[in-house]
Amino acid sequence: MRHSYKTEAIVIRGRDLSERDRIVTFISPSEGKFDAVCKGAKKVVAKTSARYEPLNMLKLSVTVGRNLDTVEQSELVTVFPEIRKTLEATAQALYYLDIINRSLEKREENHRIYNLVKKSLLLMEGGQEMDILTRAFEAKFLVLMGYKPVTDSCCVCGDPGGHLRVDFCRGGVICPKCSDLSGEGETSRIMPGTLQALKFLLKCRLDSLSTVKFHDRIGNELKEVLRNMIEFNNPGAMANRRCYDTLG
Ligand SMILES: [Zn+2]
Repeated sequence: MRHSYKTEAIVIRGRDLSERDRIVTFISPSEGKFDAVCKGAKKVVAKTSARYEPLNMLKLSVTVGRNLDTVEQSELVTVFPEIRKTLEATAQALYYLDIINRSLEKREENHRIYNLVKKSLLLMEGGQEMDILTRAFEAKFLVLMGYKPVTDSCCVCGDPGGHLRVDFCRGGVICPKCSDLSGEGETSRIMPGTLQALKFLLKCRLDSLSTVKFHDRIGNELKEVLRNMIEFNNPGAMANRRCYDTLG
């Protein structure tokens, strides 16, 4: 049984525990999503008080407790200053963290999800155009959660025709015959260009997005398709959807 561990982590959110202390939810490559007590984090005068703001990336030394672990030492890696300069970028970044928070169970090690969040935030910090980045984040999030959309054949019967209807619940394109059996509101039309864009995002490298641009109509449809897929596969993940749409 281990007594302590060190890990890099990104702050998802925090809540007060006592007069001085806060419980902070982090995501880390080795621990997944986890809670830890951060002593003195609430004290206004403490140098550490702003350290545990959502989005900050830290290096942590943590001791294992019976119920809750405690952060003994932390070193700030970055607060993502460029992202914090605009409300839009901050809202997008918090959206990534919120989806992760709502979709992951605690202490499920998932370094690939951590890397997706970290890489997306670093690219946004470096000036990557946000809409494309967010669509790529959503597509790759679906893949890593085990819900990779089926794009080449009907996701129910496997019919290989070029289908232009998508079923959010079953997670992919769907033929007319199977589509007739889908539930109310579970399917919508998808334009060929949107399907192409989705296929591209599912396999592209995140750091190759700088030259990519989608037509507005495709971008908007892609946003609807991806968000519906996330919502149908992770109920609750998009609970703040209206809020995201206002800000993002
Ligand atoms: Zn079918």
